[in-house]
Amino acid sequence: MPISKDLVFPVYIESVALNKILNTCESSIQEIFGYLIGNILKWKEEVYVTIEEQLFIRGAIHSDQYSTFQLEGKAGEYEREFQKLKKNKNNSDLRIVGWWHSHPGLGCFLSPVDLKTQEFFFPESFQVALVVDQINKKYKFFTLDINTPMKYKEISHAVLSSKSPKLTKIT
Ligand SMILES: [Zn+2]
Repeated sequence: MPISKDLVFPVYIESVALNKILNTCESSIQEIFGYLIGNILKWKEEVYVTIEEQLFIRGAIHSDQYSTFQLEGKAGEYEREFQKLKKNKNNSDLRIVGWWHSHPGLGCFLSPVDLKTQEFFFPESFQVALVVDQINKKYKFFTLDINTPMKYKEISHAVLSSKSPKLTKIT
């Protein structure tokens, strides 16, 4: 398989973090949400994000019935967990690069409430939304895009597997 020299995805997610999210979604029939934790990197003129960790707090539900109030109520709790995670990983560069939530059987898109959540809590251009439909075994990444009629767009991603070949030092 040829490797493109100039291939940059907007999102790179560690398979361990992705699997944790997918498994958490599979274990709940409710519409749950969590935070995506990682870094913002730049290559040439392109900005992209890496997702290394995820945070999930029990009872964090996001749906059109609960709306953003639920997220607002949990935001402080997530902030505390995020500070703990940074300390544990000894990595103060980690940032909240977006959020994930589940759409059991609903398909992958951003609802009007999701869009409000994205605009209010994750307005930065690098902040992404990961939507998981665990019933249909699908997931998609989105970002805000004011130039589209929907005000958001789907973006591509690459999964970083711990099984990928490690670079070895040539001495
Ligand atoms: Zn949603």
